Amino acid sequence: MTNRKSFNAKWALLPLCLFLSLCIKAKDVRIASPNGKLVVTVNDDDGLATYSVTLNGQPVLLPSRLGFKADFGDFTQGLSITNSSEGTGTGEYPMRQVKQSLISYKCSTLLVTFHNSRNQEMQVDFFIKDNDIAFRYIIPRQQRDNPKCAVIYEEATSFCLPDGTTTFISPQIDPMKGWERTKPSYEEGYAPDAPMDRRSAYGQGYTFPCLFHLKNGWMLISETGVGSNYCGSHLSDYKEGGYQIAYPQQGENNGFGSTGAQISLPGATPGRTITVGETLAPIVETTIVYDVVWPLYEATENYKSGRYTWSWLIWQDPSVNYDDQVKFIDTAAAMGYEFCLVDGNWDTQIGRDRIAELSAYAQRKGVALMLWYNSNGAWNDAPQTPRGIMSNSILRDKDMAWMKSIGVKGIKVDFFGGDKQETMRLYEDILYDANRYGIQCIFHGCTIPRGWERMYPNYIASEAVLASENVYFNEGAAIHEPFDLTLHPFCRNAVGTMDWGGVIMNKYLSKDNKSRHSRKTTDVFEIATAFTNQTAIQCIAIQPNNLQELPQVELDFLKTIPATWDETRFIDGYPGRYVVMARRHADQWYIAALNAQKEPLILSLDINNYNVKNLLIDNSQQTTENRPIKADKKGKVKLTVQPNGGAVLY
Ligand code: CA
Repeated sequence: MTNRKSFNAKWALLPLCLFLSLCIKAKDVRIASPNGKLVVTVNDDDGLATYSVTLNGQPVLLPSRLGFKADFGDFTQGLSITNSSEGTGTGEYPMRQVKQSLISYKCSTLLVTFHNSRNQEMQVDFFIKDNDIAFRYIIPRQQRDNPKCAVIYEEATSFCLPDGTTTFISPQIDPMKGWERTKPSYEEGYAPDAPMDRRSAYGQGYTFPCLFHLKNGWMLISETGVGSNYCGSHLSDYKEGGYQIAYPQQGENNGFGSTGAQISLPGATPGRTITVGETLAPIVETTIVYDVVWPLYEATENYKSGRYTWSWLIWQDPSVNYDDQVKFIDTAAAMGYEFCLVDGNWDTQIGRDRIAELSAYAQRKGVALMLWYNSNGAWNDAPQTPRGIMSNSILRDKDMAWMKSIGVKGIKVDFFGGDKQETMRLYEDILYDANRYGIQCIFHGCTIPRGWERMYPNYIASEAVLASENVYFNEGAAIHEPFDLTLHPFCRNAVGTMDWGGVIMNKYLSKDNKSRHSRKTTDVFEIATAFTNQTAIQCIAIQPNNLQELPQVELDFLKTIPATWDETRFIDGYPGRYVVMARRHADQWYIAALNAQKEPLILSLDINNYNVKNLLIDNSQQTTENRPIKADKKGKVKLTVQPNGGAVLY
């Protein structure tokens, strides 16, 4: 059995033509998507393995490199295509915790075999839907020397986009930088519509996912299927020939562990994914990162989704005490929310015995606790405790058994050491162990998930974004919040659940709700983000004082917000400017709109296909209105979304 098991069955069941050495050279292999509109061409001109992509006959990816360098062989040059086989497939699978609850697809598949000048073999395995491509390298057992394991040092894989393409990409930062040497953790910013050849802020390339605005459409590039089997990768700076796959930096994980990947043979790399469309709809709605992976273990229980309260965002470290946590449990109970997250230092500021009491108190109120843990270890200086437990399999198991015994249902593990395979193994170990005790996991200070919602049934979400804590920390981030939250549905959140860390309802980022800087968004903007941000356990960062302060209409609405979705559809938008999207929970549709622009956004929405009858919106006086809507004869509704404002039709 190979680690191809972690990939989609249809993809993995492709015929293996390993030892058929064909004399006829197929120089140019072409495969079309099921509807024929997306076409991938694979070529071996000049001994280089390349692929290119067209959509409706227009080039969207120019000839880009394939191949890698391993300890046993070089697959970046001297290559020729020796075989290829095509197939088609269909699939259907349930997903509890992403944008769609039942996913079905049609695909075309293509397996291309290359041999290098030493007659060593590499296969490139393509999975193609009408708007998505995933591909990976399969490395068979080699006749020459017959190695049974391999180290992959680097890849030639590249993405060469047409001239005139602009970018929405976030730089990879140098390792061991930032607060307590905790970088990289996918917490850098984005510049909208930047030119491709601009040097990245740190010269280290860009983190996934990477969004590109082509002259004739949009493209999102990312990867999936990275667990303990491989390192996480990112894109290099732009160079001649495009962006190239880059492996982690040597300094990550405090310099410990290889930057490459160690695999058993026969084996396969993770899948690199490309989503492309004439509009942004295929980007927002894509499921490619889930289509080509496979659950790695069974859930031990029927994991619950829901909403959580969180004291730390605004009350910060001092709030991690028994009495303040009772207030946030009570707030969760008053709102009907399922969870309350107790942040770092609970072991010293509350103590384990009283955490057990707190958990019992929460359970009497119908609320389950989630507890914060440091991922360290030895890879950065983040001091918060409990420290040294999640990094140690013996202590981790003991703490998880204890959590189960006192009814704790989730953990948030923070401050990971980067993207090396060493660190990817830790994520998988924590997830697997947590599942044995019925515990769900949120990661912070971390990498993006790469198909993890399907691979690990108790995985909830990752931060891996410049999140809400920055809105608290500095006013600049508060000013930037509308830009960020109208970008992520098209980018970060399109390929993985995102723990943004809260629908913020305080007017001011302070406990007294009067001091420090103000929030720059309207109340309905914040409420609408619970629909545009996707995660199956959604943080509603409501404060105890909000229960007295907020208009009843807002409180009533906040109580009803679902966290899981049966369907997700893009309606309108532009990254960083505005977004309008629809999500369905059971038979209830919600259409949420956010406007990050300085001018009011006038929308004329066709609601024919959505069973929506009411509108929650803020008017120009920033007063929240909740009223029935009536469509015109054509089924259209007109509404005006205020600057930094929002709307929810339901
Ligand atoms: Ca963080």
